[in-house]
Amino acid sequence: MHSEQPRALLLDMDGLLYHGDRPLPGARRLLTRLAETPHVFVTNNPIRTPEQIADALGAMGLPRPHPERIITSALATARWLAQWRENFRYFCVGAGSLDAALRRVGQPDSERADVVVIGEGPGLDFEQLTIGINLILSRGARLVATNPDPSVDGVRNGRHVTLPGGGALVAPFAAATGVTPTFVGKPEPLLYEMALALLDCPAGACLMVGDRPDTDIAGAERLGMWTALVRSGQYPPGRPWPTALPQPDYDCDDLSVLMNALDRDHPGLLSPERDRS
Ligand SMILES: [Mg+2]
Repeated sequence: MHSEQPRALLLDMDGLLYHGDRPLPGARRLLTRLAETPHVFVTNNPIRTPEQIADALGAMGLPRPHPERIITSALATARWLAQWRENFRYFCVGAGSLDAALRRVGQPDSERADVVVIGEGPGLDFEQLTIGINLILSRGARLVATNPDPSVDGVRNGRHVTLPGGGALVAPFAAATGVTPTFVGKPEPLLYEMALALLDCPAGACLMVGDRPDTDIAGAERLGMWTALVRSGQYPPGRPWPTALPQPDYDCDDLSVLMNALDRDHPGLLSPERDRS
């Protein structure tokens, strides 16, 4: 089914390596064993910058990745919009790094925006919804969302909570205007393509590891990548595979099971084990 062996990895982050501010079992071992394997992290989370994400991993006691190896959906959205239109004007709704990422390639303009960009996090209110709807209906602004996730995992007061994702936050704009949004994050190809270009690796020689069948795995499979689901996040052990989606190459309950399978099938892809702590 695959004509090439995997020689590089793309890794999701939340639900695979950590949950909230806690590392998941096997994450430290995997990141340590990636020291000599080409790899890039791809996250649909548009809120934190790569530097903030790298610092958060370091604070959890995990090896701190180089920020240039982390591609967020906010960065991918900015890149996509810059290719779509030079010096675009935008109105954006979303917390964290999204506005800064867009500002590098476009201009904020809530009266004459060419595009309404929806991210994640707190901030959406009646006024913003009204501005966005009218930009779309009166000015023909395009509706773009950083990522299609209906919901995402969060932690509040030490407890797991479900938060609205980019797919949920863009929905009221789509409902009010009848316009279909353009999504940038996984499972759309752009985030993967940016990462593959950074790795200088064809899709068929790269393994995508993630915790969501509908985004991480579905998007990678469409590009012809190797795929591994780890059931440590959104998709728990024992839940039947969604029949509408293609099966991944690896379906593992945790990262240790995945590392064992990769050592068996693709020896040398991960660095040898030196420290089993
Ligand atoms: Mg995830």
